[in-house]
Amino acid sequence: MSNTLLQQEVDKRRTFAIISHPDAGKTTITEKVLLFGRAIQTAGTVKGRGSNQHAKSDWMDMEKERGISVTTSVMQFPYNDCLVNLLDTPGHEDFSEDTYRTLTAVDSCLMVIDAAKGVEDRTRKLMEVTRLRDTPIITFMNKLDRDIRDPMELLDEVESELNIACAPVSWPIGCGKGFQGVYHIHRDESILYQSGQGHTIQDARIIKGLNNPELDEAIGADIAQDLRDELELVMGASHAFDHELFLSGELTPVFFGTALGNFGVDHMLDGLTEWAPKPMARPTHDREVKADEEKFSGFVFKIQANMDPRHRDRIAFMRIVSGKYQQGMKLRHVRLGKQINISDAVTFMAGDRSRAEDAFAGDIIGLHNHGTIQIGDTFTQGEDLKFAGIPNFAPELFRRIRLKDPLRQKQLLKGLIQLSEEGAVQVFRPLQSNDLIVGAVGVLQFDMVVARLKAEYNVDALYEPINVATARWVECDDEKKLDEFQRKNQANLALDGGDNLTYIAPTMVNLNLTQERFPDIDLRATREH
Ligand code: GDP
Repeated sequence: MSNTLLQQEVDKRRTFAIISHPDAGKTTITEKVLLFGRAIQTAGTVKGRGSNQHAKSDWMDMEKERGISVTTSVMQFPYNDCLVNLLDTPGHEDFSEDTYRTLTAVDSCLMVIDAAKGVEDRTRKLMEVTRLRDTPIITFMNKLDRDIRDPMELLDEVESELNIACAPVSWPIGCGKGFQGVYHIHRDESILYQSGQGHTIQDARIIKGLNNPELDEAIGADIAQDLRDELELVMGASHAFDHELFLSGELTPVFFGTALGNFGVDHMLDGLTEWAPKPMARPTHDREVKADEEKFSGFVFKIQANMDPRHRDRIAFMRIVSGKYQQGMKLRHVRLGKQINISDAVTFMAGDRSRAEDAFAGDIIGLHNHGTIQIGDTFTQGEDLKFAGIPNFAPELFRRIRLKDPLRQKQLLKGLIQLSEEGAVQVFRPLQSNDLIVGAVGVLQFDMVVARLKAEYNVDALYEPINVATARWVECDDEKKLDEFQRKNQANLALDGGDNLTYIAPTMVNLNLTQERFPDIDLRATREH
């Protein structure tokens, strides 16, 4: 493949994930985003991705599953002149480290906020994670068909609580029963909303120019005048969009709409395809790898078991960082120092798994994993690279795990260590006891671990509560100080699944006191794979 062809493929990719608090509308937006992606497919601009009929049945299956969550992990669709990859971040109860790690595999994020509620907990947490890499953020204020909070106040809250400047791109005209649409500040046009069209792409009425008398006729002279006055204030009080600041994660363009009413999602997608970064360069421990390099490279950010009851295998999700994947190519599994033949990678097209024919930097492919692939693994076409920054996060929930049949201790340990290598859960072995402590970020992970221990290792295990508030990885360059720390804190030290020293704190107060007493010891809340 010539360099320019590769460059063209890379340039049109946009890879993003949605961050939001449960119930803000992530699933609904995902559906509408796919509706737009599919519509273009129906119009025949994209070939070779299955028939329209096929797409339609996927869509209906998805609709059926609604209320649970769209279970697709990666969805690729065309929009404008781009190929967009939307990576699903598990929400709700199945919130886990996968959610965090998925954010290391994207180039931008869409932050969805319930405009009736404002900034909520989970969003705050996820934004912290995007900050680790200064990921560019696009904001969608959702549920404008409800009575929302004052839009200016919402922007202020995002700015002060999430520490990111807001640049409104569209501005709402009313809300709730009085929601009439938005004024698109950049296009200088009002786009009018019609309710009851949530399942189709709306043929919206567009009125050019804020001072156009047509607007007065359409929405009422008083409302039109209020809008003009309000916009004057907004423009004075808010930031103008600045592409550089957006790319450095310091400023977010803000769109208003309703996902349920399917209004405004396309404005957001227009912004995303126009402004969001194409696949970015990534650091390794030696050098930076650029997306348009000829040679293939990628890293594994997530491993998922039994996604589809018909395929009971595990899939390792790899983000392609550079070059092109072709079926049957040989790749170097850097950690193992082995060449492996990748004959059957898969892509994930809105719930349907299909064989990946080729894929480019920015895309995600799925590798069948028979136990040799771990989170953080790098694959290349020969070079010994190791991508940096795929983190382990300190778990927030802990339980002691115990066997029903004590003779199977060895299998239990083996199972737990393998599951922790996959990143499904973390396991800690206290230095001074034979306990096994399971740590997780989300509560559903505990049930998953017990179920998988039973199914895959034939081990019956159960949990007991344990008094642990948090865990921290212990690091210190000074061996003497580390020794002293270890001697004085034996009772609170453990090894994790990879034999790394961790401090297990019964309370946050204990953690803070310990940190004060041992200022030279680094107690880290994240650890790189
Ligand atoms: P998720 O938990 O973030 O995936 O949120 P969902 O997409 O499942 O939405 C949560 C609830 O909010 C569902 O009942 C949706 O129908 C509803 N919802 C989503 N978007 C809108 C919207 O724009 N307006 C209104 N009124 N409800 C919405």
